[in-house]
Amino acid sequence: MNPAAPDRYGVVGNPVAHSKSPLIHALFAEQTHERLTYERVLAPLSGFRETVAAFMAQGGKGLNVTLPFKLEAHALATQTTERARVAGAVNTLRFDAGVILGDNTDGAGLMADLERLGHLHGFAMQDARVLLLGAGGAARGVLGPLLDSAPTLVAIANRDQAKARALAHVYLGPASKLRALGLDDLEDERFDVILNATSAGHQGATLGLPGALVKAASLIYDLAYGEGPAESSTPFLRAARAQGATLTSDGLGMLVEQAALSFFLWRGILPQSQPVLLELRKALSPS
Ligand code: NAP
Repeated sequence: MNPAAPDRYGVVGNPVAHSKSPLIHALFAEQTHERLTYERVLAPLSGFRETVAAFMAQGGKGLNVTLPFKLEAHALATQTTERARVAGAVNTLRFDAGVILGDNTDGAGLMADLERLGHLHGFAMQDARVLLLGAGGAARGVLGPLLDSAPTLVAIANRDQAKARALAHVYLGPASKLRALGLDDLEDERFDVILNATSAGHQGATLGLPGALVKAASLIYDLAYGEGPAESSTPFLRAARAQGATLTSDGLGMLVEQAALSFFLWRGILPQSQPVLLELRKALSPS
C-alpha cells in the first residue's frame, strides 16, 4: 500500500446515497488540515459484515454506520466504548491493528445540539418531560445521554411496543423515570420535548400525533433532516407546525455534532461544528 496515501474513512448504510457525512468530514478535514478521504459505502441488507471486512482489507481506518446496521455494528465490534456497550448500538467503527472498536456518538451529538437550542431559545432538558418516538438504533444511542440530562420522565413510544419495553428495560434502575408506550397511547399524554427517532419519514409515512400533544410541547425535534430551513425541513416537522407547534428543529445539528465526535475518535482532534453546520445548511437550502 502506498504509505503516502491519505487515510480512508466512510459511511456504511442502506440506503446511503442521501448521506451528508462525506461533505461534513471533508469540511472537518479542511478545517483541521488532516489528510483523509471519506466515501459512501452501500452494503447489501444481508451483507454488512462482508462489506466492512472488504473495506478493512483495503486499508480502511474507520466507518460511520447508519441505518439499518447500528445493531449489527455493535455485534461486529471486538471492543466497545462504555456508551456503545450500554446502548447496544454502534455508529462509529475504528479499525486499528486487528481491533474493531465500536463507539456511539449519536447521544452526545444530540445532547450537544439540544444544548445549543436551549441556549438560543431558553429551555433546559433538566426536569423536562420527554417523549422519544422510536426504539431503533438511534433511540438506543440517545436514551442513556437523555436520562443523564436529569429529565422528570422519558417515555419511549414505538410502533412495535414490545421493542419500546425492551429498550426501557435496558435502562431499568431508577425506573420511575422511564415508561414504554405504543404510538396509539399518546392521546392523553403531555410532554415538554418530543424527539422523533423513527425512520417513518424516509418511507413517506406520517406518525399522526394527536394535536393537543403537539401543541403542548415546548420543543419538537426530528432526528432526521431534509432540504430547507431547520424548523420545517422534514414532513414530521411540517406536520407538527401545521398542528400548532412553535419551536421545531431538524437533526442536522445533531448530525454535525455526532460526526465531530467520530472525527475525534479517529484523528484525536475535535473540529469546530458550528461553521460546518452553517455551511451544510447553506448546501441544503434550495437556491
Ligand atoms: P432504525 O434502527 O431502522 O429504527 C427505525 C425506527 O423507526 C423503529 O423504531 C421503527 O419502529 C420506526 N418506524 C419505521 N417506520 C415507521 C412507521 N411507518 N411508523 C412508525 N414508526 C416507524 O433506524 P435508526 O437508525 O434508529 O434511525 C431513525 C431515524 O433517526 C432516521 O430518520 C435517521 O435518519 C435518524 N438519525 C439521525 C441522526 C442524526 O445525526 N441526525 C443520527 C441517527 C439517526 P418499529 O420498531 O415498530 O419497526
